[in-house]
Amino acid sequence: MPIATIGRTFRFESAHFLPKVPESHRCRNLHGHNYRVEIVLRGEIDERGFVKDFGEVDAAVTPLIAQVDHKLLNEVPGLTNPTAEIIARWFLDHLAAAVRVTVWENNDCWAEVSR
Ligand SMILES: [Zn+2]
Repeated sequence: MPIATIGRTFRFESAHFLPKVPESHRCRNLHGHNYRVEIVLRGEIDERGFVKDFGEVDAAVTPLIAQVDHKLLNEVPGLTNPTAEIIARWFLDHLAAAVRVTVWENNDCWAEVSR
């Protein structure tokens, strides 16, 4: 059976600061981003014609978005140092079916974590 790949993009807006960069680094200061996160799944196409129903993807991801949207990310468990890489890993860790997560902090900067 061929393997198919699907993706679904979500958005959230959050504040953060990066505590492990030097004092002089601008990301040490509290600031915000309009984040975009893409969740990617891979698998065989089932009898319904899906790798996964996008509605099922929504049901799994929406509670995670609720944990980070309009929040100070540094206060979310697991995100005390909320770089894009660590935010992507946090989503991947909470989504057993996902194989890749990409987080965009803006139009130009992104990080991807996969298994
Ligand atoms: Zn930032």
